Amino acid sequence: MSRSLRELPKVHVHVHLDGSYPLPAVQALARRRGAAFAVPDRFETVWDFFDAYGTVPQLVEDLDDLAGLCRALVRAEAEAGVRFLEPAIEPQLYAPRLGSLETVARATVDALQAAGAEHGIEVGANLTINTDQDEAIAAELARIAAVLAGRGVTALGTAGFVEPAGLARFAGAARIARDAGLQVVSHAGQTGGPESVREALDELGATRISHGVRAVEDEELVARLAAERIVLDVCPVSNVALGVVAALAAHPAPALAAAGVPVTLNADDSLWLGSDVVAQYEVAREVWGLSDEALAGLAGAGALVPGLSATGRAALETDLAAWLAAEAAA
Ligand SMILES: [Zn+2]
Repeated sequence: MSRSLRELPKVHVHVHLDGSYPLPAVQALARRRGAAFAVPDRFETVWDFFDAYGTVPQLVEDLDDLAGLCRALVRAEAEAGVRFLEPAIEPQLYAPRLGSLETVARATVDALQAAGAEHGIEVGANLTINTDQDEAIAAELARIAAVLAGRGVTALGTAGFVEPAGLARFAGAARIARDAGLQVVSHAGQTGGPESVREALDELGATRISHGVRAVEDEELVARLAAERIVLDVCPVSNVALGVVAALAAHPAPALAAAGVPVTLNADDSLWLGSDVVAQYEVAREVWGLSDEALAGLAGAGALVPGLSATGRAALETDLAAWLAAEAAA
């Protein structure tokens, strides 16, 4: 028998809040609304996936509902062995219905922080701009991120399944975040090619890339990511479910890690994909054939995520060593 992947200390930092609430918590909320909620076994197209995605925020009627879902998420992540959780939050999914962008963002990070304290894990937040939104909303989100830097927000992100050229239009927002000491985390190299990753690095000053798997198509870029210690927050099960990668066995993460690129494993949208962070490590062990040392190496890449405190980083490294040192369960 091998070591428990649930007990492997992990960071989990590519987690879209609104696609990651635990199913029982969403079902309980739906019942309170007099509705049923189920996750389809499969989606005909990726667009059906994104349509379904919007149904959860609609169940949320006030900030208490939202806080309850945040608490449920943090609890589930703590139970999955997550030591640092940095959900991507999009207050724009709830504002102005539940309040201003800033009110919703504050309520979200407060709920996440309180739940982190309750369950003994560190929690940050990646305040995320959707790339189909305009520069004005982006600038407002960046302003809010800057206000909440040090109070629960640890990054400013950009996200969008289709990665069009033109990330440069968010350069002003990215600058506001960087000036506030936040890192910029950009979705790129998922549907967009290596050029989208370069654009995130060069135009936004991104220091982490959400996905980034298509960087593997460009040797020079892979060497740059390794040299600059740019972390790729990859999501193997999501990539296959959404047709980005043909099969788990063909996923580029092991090759990227072998080339020296820091890679973390993440669930992306565990509610809709039915696959949590532990399942990503199961893929790494069972499909990619990685040893426990290599799995601990992937988990250890999480130490490079700046949102994690120095204390949290030291504890992660100590606990990873302890996980490896412990005899595999009989
Ligand atoms: Zn994502």
